[in-house]
Amino acid sequence: MTGLAQARVLVIGCGGLAASATRALVEAGLRALTLVDDDRVDLSNLHRQTLFRTEDLGRSKVEAAAEALRALPRPHAAPVQVETRTTRFLPDNAETLLAGHDLVIDGTDNLASKFLVADAARLARIPAVHGGVVRWTGWALASAASQGPCMRCVFEDLPAGRVETCAGAGVVGPVVGVVSALSAALAVDLLARADVAAGRLYSYDALGRGLRQTRVRARSGCPLCDGQVADLNISRYMTCRPFPSNQESPCP
Ligand SMILES: [Zn+2]
Repeated sequence: MTGLAQARVLVIGCGGLAASATRALVEAGLRALTLVDDDRVDLSNLHRQTLFRTEDLGRSKVEAAAEALRALPRPHAAPVQVETRTTRFLPDNAETLLAGHDLVIDGTDNLASKFLVADAARLARIPAVHGGVVRWTGWALASAASQGPCMRCVFEDLPAGRVETCAGAGVVGPVVGVVSALSAALAVDLLARADVAAGRLYSYDALGRGLRQTRVRARSGCPLCDGQVADLNISRYMTCRPFPSNQESPCP
């Protein structure tokens, strides 16, 4: 069991899904975090990526976010240690980036990256919080370090056809904020009592049923829990046909 004051958290993707989560964890006393992203701050995502200001336009996201997080008030804790990695999270650097961390927060914006984070975290035996948003709906899931339930227990695998993502469908800023805050709550719970938190799935529908909590159980036949996913072969993350590049936008 690791408390926030002792924990080192890896945050993959420094957009909207990471913003409220990192802010909440730092203000609550998190000891250290590492931010991973190779993108730059863009005007089109400022409305949901709340760590950034208009003065940050064009800056490296990890550098601008690190500066914002170091400036947050921590009346009862020592200054937070923030490290930055200006890179994408990829199969060939996943193990190195994960090393030395107690928990992973997946703030990526596409399914291929989410499955890669899920697989890499499980192979490294590190608990993970995953989250995603499309339009008015979102979800957040706490995944255990070494045994199910995991993200593949819920979503199985990358779909073979065209996938609706935030890049094509758009996202609603407040929904991103809700999912990011839920991710922080799941992270605190996973660090404090992993056996209770693992498998908790929040689903949020801003226009419909609101917030629901489900307890996910390990799925029989899950390739990650059964050990069939034993490496991070890049072909495993390329079955999903991406949107044309001219429709992509950095989000959430
Ligand atoms: Zn599983």
